Parts: sequence; C-alpha cells; structure tokens
Amino acid sequence: MTTSRPSFSYDASLNTELHGDVLVVGAGLAGLTAALTAAEAGLKVLLAFKPKDATESNSAYAQGGIAAYVEWNTPDSLEQHVQDTLEAGAGYNNEIVVRQILAEGNDAIKTLMRYGVAFDLDPEGVPALTQEAAHSQRRILHVNGDQTGVGIVTPLIERVKATKSIQILPYHALEALHQGKHHAIVGATLYDSKHAQRRYIHTSNVVLATGGYAGLYLHATNTATDGVQALFLAHQAGATLKDLHLVQFHPTAFVTEGQVRFLASESLRGEGAMLVNADGQRFMEAVHPQGELAPRDVVARAIASEMLKTKHPCVYLDMRHRSQAFLEHRFPNIYRTALRYGIDMATDLLPVAPAAHYCMGGIDATWQGETAVSGLFTIGEASCTGLHGANRLASNSLLECVVMGRQVVNVLNKTLIPNTPFGFNQAKYNNSSHSLKQVKRLMWQYLGLQRSKRAYEHLHTELQKLKNDFPDEEVFTFLVETAVKHAEEMSYSCGSHHIIEKSLSFK
Ligand SMILES: Cc1cc2nc3c(=O)[nH]c(=O)nc-3n(C[C@H](O)[C@H](O)[C@H](O)COP(=O)(O)OP(=O)(O)OC[C@H]3O[C@@H](n4cnc5c(N)ncnc54)[C@H](O)[C@@H]3O)c2cc1C
Repeated sequence: MTTSRPSFSYDASLNTELHGDVLVVGAGLAGLTAALTAAEAGLKVLLAFKPKDATESNSAYAQGGIAAYVEWNTPDSLEQHVQDTLEAGAGYNNEIVVRQILAEGNDAIKTLMRYGVAFDLDPEGVPALTQEAAHSQRRILHVNGDQTGVGIVTPLIERVKATKSIQILPYHALEALHQGKHHAIVGATLYDSKHAQRRYIHTSNVVLATGGYAGLYLHATNTATDGVQALFLAHQAGATLKDLHLVQFHPTAFVTEGQVRFLASESLRGEGAMLVNADGQRFMEAVHPQGELAPRDVVARAIASEMLKTKHPCVYLDMRHRSQAFLEHRFPNIYRTALRYGIDMATDLLPVAPAAHYCMGGIDATWQGETAVSGLFTIGEASCTGLHGANRLASNSLLECVVMGRQVVNVLNKTLIPNTPFGFNQAKYNNSSHSLKQVKRLMWQYLGLQRSKRAYEHLHTELQKLKNDFPDEEVFTFLVETAVKHAEEMSYSCGSHHIIEKSLSFK
C-alpha cells in the first residue's frame, strides 16, 4: 500500500495559478451546497469538477427523494427519524452524529426551497411526503415524481452560475493536494482535461465532495469511480479512511443487458409494489415483519436467495394493481425507461436484482466535514461520519449532502495562505484505468452481498496478480486492498456486511 509522500517538482511551463478562500471539489448536491453557503458567507470559492456539466453527478440521478423531519409533519418526530436511522444502520451508527445531522433536516429543506427547489405538493399545498423502506413514517420529499435529484440540483446550479464569487472549473480533476507546515493544506493541483493543462490552486481549505465508489462493482446503479482518486489522495495526505467495506446494495435495480443497472426506486415499494419470485410467489412477508419495506440489506439478501433458489437471474416488482395514469404521474422516469425496454409496468412485471448503490464508508470526518488533516474537509457520500452505520436509511444521503455542505463552512480555516511558492509535499496519484474491469469483477465476486474468509483469500491472491500486472495503477487496487482489510477487521455480520461460511455469488 502506498503511503509515501512523493516530492513535488514544479513545472513553470504549465503554470496557471488561482487563489481562493476555499476549493470545493465536486459539484453534486454536497459540493453545490457548500459552494453556495461559502459564497453567502463572503468567501471566494473555486468549484471544480471532472465532467463538462455539473448535472453529471449521482446527485442528479437520485430518484426517490430527500428524507427529513419537517415541522408541519405532525405524525412524525425527530426522535422517530433518529430511531429509524439507527435501526436501519444496524446500530453501527454514531448516534451523536445521527442526532446532529437529522436535527438540521427542517432547515435544510427550507434552504433548498429558498434556492428555488420546487418540491411536489399535496392537495393542501404543502410538500407531499412519501415513504421508503425502514421509515416508520411518510417523511420523504420529492420533486417531479421520481426525478428528485435533477429537480434539486438544477436550481442550485443556476444559482451557482449567477454567483460572482464562485468560479466554476468544469473538466478539472483533482490531481494532487499540497501540504505545508504540520501537513496543513496549502493548495491543490487540478488537471484541466479540456485545455490539457494543470492549474495550481492556492488555498488553505480544500473540501472533497467527490461522491462514492459504488461504480467499482460489476453491477451497480451508477458509474461513480472518480471519487476513488480523492479517497486515495486524502489517505496519502494523512486522513483516515473508514469502513470502505460497507457498501449498500440496492435490492431493485432494473435488470437489463448492460452492466449499469437503472434504479427502480424504493418508493415504488413505498407506494405498494410487491416483490415476487420467478414462480410468481411473494417472499418478503416470510422474511421480515416489514415485508417489502424491510431494510435494504435484508431485502437485497432475500432477493439473492430467491434468485439462487429459483435459478433465475432476477425477481420481479409487481405494480400492476396501480393504473397507468398513476404510474406515469408518480414515477414518470422509471415508467418511461421501462417502456423503452418494452415493459409497461401497468400490465407487466418489472425484472429486478440487487446492484451496488451507495458507499457508507469513506473519509473519516466529523458531521461538519473535518478530517485528520488541517484544511482538508469532506462532505456528502465521500465522507464517513457514522450517520449511516452499516446500512443507509433510504433518502438520508441527500439530506446529509445539504446539512454537511452548510455546516462545513462554519469550520473552514480563516487564515488564508499567502502567495506561497509551491515546493511542498504533495499527495499525488498515477492515472489508472486499465485494471478497472478486473477490479469490478473482484469487488462483485468477493466483496459483495455475502462475504467469507475464503472469499477474502481468493481476493488477496487475485489482487496480488493484478498489482503485478498493473504496477502503476495503484488507485483502484489500493481501494480494494483497504476495503478487504476493513472487511477482515469486522469479523461479525452487521448491516450490509454479511458473513457466511462459503461466499455465494450470482452473475
Ligand atoms: C440511481 C441513484 C438514485 C439515488 N436516489 C437517491 C434518493 O432518492 N435519495 C437519496 O438520499 N439518495 C439517493 N441516491 C444517493 C445519492 O444520490 C448520493 O449519495 C448523493 O447524491 C451523493 O452526493 P455527493 O454530492 O456526495 O456526490 P455526487 O453527487 O456523486 O457528486 C460527486 C461530484 O464529484 C466530482 N468528482 C468526483 N471525483 C472527482 C475528482 N477526482 N476530481 C474532480 N471532481 C470529481 C463528480 O464529477 C461530481 O461532480 C441515489 C443514488 C443513485 C446512484
């Protein structure tokens, strides 16, 4: 495992320098919220992200909604939201953090509304609330039915663009972190892929809002792998990586021929969808008292077990008791996508199977995003605060993005770095991609829904071969190595981390 800090050679020919009070890396919901909040606090913000467009993030893909205890929802209470989160998280959560983050729910929703987010309304004109698995109450707010992510990030992106004190840097990937005295952050290098040049950033605050790494699995609901580079750099800079083995598998990803599976949101089950196996039999009622609305890890394992039992590559979501009009209105995105594959959910069953979805593990941080490195912060899915425990409660992650994005601004370093010439230690990585296909297979086969000692042994052997074959591609292999180390350290089953004698795998 690479932990050395390579020395930095400054290439003046590539010199384009920028200064900012804070560099936010990542323009998902966490990064956008942090950038807007920092700008409101009077700070000069640089907002960098790898793709061309800020809408290319997992945040934009979010379907079901954002969970929050809101003051007008009288049947609900903050305490119930806390208890549901602890229960779903298998008690592995940091209860203090759970309480800190969830208590900000009402203000987070108000902030989004102030930024122009138009939540769907109920007939009384207040935001409509739906339910998802393991929530004891209806407390999920949504936008345009099942298009919550894009409905939230679009107005925030517009606001960011209109804010003069935020400089937007699309096509910019984080390449290195620069550290000065006591390893405190003094800047970063970004690689601008559009102009094939490097930009050197002078700042005493870098906020990593770089998302998760579920895309490292063969079957996943998303393709996110860029965040792995940020995790690697944070580790090299001295931050702690925590619980990388805790990855949530969404039970119901639409089974298509491609490997990235389109999500069939949990709110389908919240609105009455039933799960049936290949023989047309319901099976969740026998597994858990909450039936189809049991915690995600329970449902995902039950589905995998039915798939093995019936020797069938999927189970099915049955929504046929709902009208076409309801489905088109409430789940326009999912309904249209299924139709493109010839499935009309009003009359047909929807084939689904589990897929890697969300990373509970990440860079160890406080609820306000502080890491072990002065000036280095992390928020949203890139962070591991203990909010989600061993299994995230549905729709708590968008809330986490907004709360942490707001809170991190309160703890940024106030002392600004003067024009320091570079020459400091830097955390840096080599580009890597050729090994990715192999890495996805390893993660899926050996660090998936079910784990075992034998699976870890296979993983170590195959990983060593991969490292020999791709000696320069350290980022992804580092992630796998750390994740299996964390898995081995947790010798008992807990939430998404389920140990069996012999590892099962399904294709
Ligand atoms: C299909 C799907 C549906 C979901 N539905 C819901 C839901 O209904 N409710 C809910 O709460 N959660 C949901 N989630 C989870 C939720 O969307 C994510 O947890 C959350 O959006 C993460 O936001 P983020 O800002 O932390 O990161 P992301 O939104 O993942 O953004 C990461 C940003 O960092 C940038 N980046 C990454 N690495 C680098 C790098 N090295 N250099 C530069 N830029 C980089 C990316 O380009 C991107 O801009 C869903 C997830 C998926 C995949």
